[in-house]
Amino acid sequence: MAFSGALTLTDLNDFITPAQACIKPVEQTNPSTKVNEPGAAATEIQIDASGSYYEVSNGRASGQKLQTAEISLNDCLACSGCITSAESVLITLQSHTEVLSFLSSNPPPSSSSHRIPVLSISPQSLASLAACLSPPPPLAEVLSRVHQFARTLGFEHVFDTTFARELALREHISEFEERKRRGEGALPMLASACPGWICYAEKTHGEMLPFIARTKSPQQVMGTLVKEWLSDKWQKRPDQIYHVTVMPCYDKKLEASRSDFYNDMYATRDVDCVITTGELDRLMREKGWDLAAPPPPSPSSSLTPNPFPTLLTHPGTSSGSYLHSLLSHISESSPVPLTLTTHLPRAAQVDLEEYTLSTPDGTPVFRGAKCYGFRNLQNIVRKVGRAAGVQVGRGAAGRLAGGARRPVRAGKADAAYDYVEVMACPGGCVNGGGQLKPAQAWLDARDPEGFARDWPASGVAVAGLGDASARWGDKAWTREVEKAYWDGREPAFGLPTPPASPKMGGGGAEDPLDALAGRVLADLCRPRNGTKSVRWYEQMDEEAEERRRQCFRTEYREVESEVVGLGVKW
Ligand code: SF4
Repeated sequence: MAFSGALTLTDLNDFITPAQACIKPVEQTNPSTKVNEPGAAATEIQIDASGSYYEVSNGRASGQKLQTAEISLNDCLACSGCITSAESVLITLQSHTEVLSFLSSNPPPSSSSHRIPVLSISPQSLASLAACLSPPPPLAEVLSRVHQFARTLGFEHVFDTTFARELALREHISEFEERKRRGEGALPMLASACPGWICYAEKTHGEMLPFIARTKSPQQVMGTLVKEWLSDKWQKRPDQIYHVTVMPCYDKKLEASRSDFYNDMYATRDVDCVITTGELDRLMREKGWDLAAPPPPSPSSSLTPNPFPTLLTHPGTSSGSYLHSLLSHISESSPVPLTLTTHLPRAAQVDLEEYTLSTPDGTPVFRGAKCYGFRNLQNIVRKVGRAAGVQVGRGAAGRLAGGARRPVRAGKADAAYDYVEVMACPGGCVNGGGQLKPAQAWLDARDPEGFARDWPASGVAVAGLGDASARWGDKAWTREVEKAYWDGREPAFGLPTPPASPKMGGGGAEDPLDALAGRVLADLCRPRNGTKSVRWYEQMDEEAEERRRQCFRTEYREVESEVVGLGVKW
């Protein structure tokens, strides 16, 4: 099975290495078996010519076939640090074939067991699809073509995830303010939208978990909107909707599979299936849908009305503009004008940028950073940890060495940053491992995901990107996708990037975006005073606040691996 280009062994410079052992190696059926050597497996297994497994006792196979071990997505999440191995499981459980299989078996709408298929696509995926076309069309055009394609498959609704991101950004600002009010202002808050980074922190830097924001990512907020808010509007139960998202990376499959996003009452997930941009592209090719050709004009009735605003832009970064939303919020709510200065700690290393807001007399009031890629991430985690008095980077090896963990010291005055926008991929989400690949893959008859592509016949331009050494992470290609994301405008260093479509918060009741966000919040949280709209930064009664936490926040927990990497025998 082919893995995502992000995870091939050619990219060892910014990559989590595979774990040395799985947490579920063998189901031991005979607990009385004597273990002579510490660390050795307690069960001996023999494999016959047909590949069947038998437990051995007294030197002879027992004759009883061993059951094949089943590894669920949650087992993979609890693994000792391997994202690579998890992908083979994920690809089979969450894939475009799974989507097709659901759509073909979904009973007609007249049936009571029909589920409404909904597709939500990320703006980074749209940018990746756009960048492969010549010239790259605006994202709105790509969204419309994807919408028409999805309708031919049987999807009844197609949304982009930017309104969900808008709500995630608002909630994230609320959380930052809440932390300040609780006196955690000197602890930095680290972004939580990237599951690649979250899994890494849970598995290797549990000490850092208090720093990580609890706000759900746009994908999971979209899940809440579809399964909670829309289901109510449509008078359906959450399990009567089948929600598929298109995302730039495989890690989003892991995220959607977390137990926190599972609705026990209705036995359904907020996001039922995640496919990557590459998988959507493959689906279109298999169905003979040419994304390069504008679809024939269709009656507007064939496109379902969208209850959410489409393709909202948020100035800042193409990974979600988390840091920039905070910068804007702090500047707008400051009683004195603030000056923004930017700094590249390492020249020409745009994956690590520092931003400071200062008062007119030069006093810094907010220090933030954007940190992308695991290499930068390692350094910034140590820096943040040192400044907050937390010993980090111990991981399994550190625990082996013994010693108690030092508690987080809240309120330390010299925190390195107030906030860090952390993303696991170098270049951020436009360069996610599930995005379409650049030049070399284009020129190959078969791409790394194993399907045939005839790029020139599809009208895809490869000129200018024909560097035969290009691969995932190629900076020139990432820049092309970034440009497509900003609809052709050059991303600029620092502020400002392309204008925001919405006004972030504080826009008053007359602002239609504020009004819709307020209605969604009131509908989901049902405040006791019966109001139909709540301003996002307003405090509601405790029960409503609890519902808000369930809808827009999540939790993280440290994964204590039972496997000590240094103790594994090969
Ligand atoms: Fe996924 Fe990479 Fe974006 Fe993280 S930075 S959410 S791993 S695409």
